[in-house]
Amino acid sequence: MTDSWAALRAEVLACRACPRLVAYREQVARTRKREFRQEEYWGRPVFGFGDPQARLVLVGLAPAAHGSNRTGRMFTGDRSARFLVEALHAAGYANQPTSHHRGDGLRYTDLYMTAAVRCVPPDNRPTGEERHRCLPFLVRELCALGKARAVLALGGVAWEALLASTRAVYGVEPPAVPFGHGACVALGPGRPLLWASYHPSPQNTNTGKLTRAEMVELLERIRAGYLGRSAPDAGRASVRGGGRTVIPSASSRPHP
Ligand code: SF4
Repeated sequence: MTDSWAALRAEVLACRACPRLVAYREQVARTRKREFRQEEYWGRPVFGFGDPQARLVLVGLAPAAHGSNRTGRMFTGDRSARFLVEALHAAGYANQPTSHHRGDGLRYTDLYMTAAVRCVPPDNRPTGEERHRCLPFLVRELCALGKARAVLALGGVAWEALLASTRAVYGVEPPAVPFGHGACVALGPGRPLLWASYHPSPQNTNTGKLTRAEMVELLERIRAGYLGRSAPDAGRASVRGGGRTVIPSASSRPHP
């Protein structure tokens, strides 16, 4: 894959392939939320953000209506971003604990952030067809992130997209591993570990389903895994049930 970031970004930003999502992202940008009515919304697809040489890649669900669809940057300007970026800062991946807008000085080190779907879906629910249509962008981005040693899916939709990408990106048949916080899949030598986490949405973080300490602990465990300080452990992988490490069979094509 020879995509340059600039070419891929330009293609994503110009995409209008999903009529329902195009209409919705533009409608949200026109009508706006009362507290942001003075702002100009982004209202377009949102491209990945972070360090292209990163060893850790995060895959979210999709832009939030008044978060990324407003600010134009992944996990920026809403409560999910507040939770996640605080955790990333605590774990040493972010230079600051806040993510308010594109000019706020936030920088990620060794971390790149992207999403399964690039346009905000109504009710945060993209259809199967929309997810399928956007998957090639994730595939191309993951192919270009050649230094990745771990990919963390935030939520079940991102997990499914990540598993669906393994054949094209890593030459491995999609593993049949159910989503669960702390689930981990080893794709084989030279390929990154795939990890899953609950999505840092207010629905999960306000109810205590996902705490900041658990998020930081998972990020540190992921880093320890790719730094070789400790192997991912199937027992410890179950922070809140369901986590396990699975090693699927790989095809003969090595990941570059
Ligand atoms: S969701 Fe993806 S495929 Fe659909 S319009 Fe947005 S960028 Fe294009």
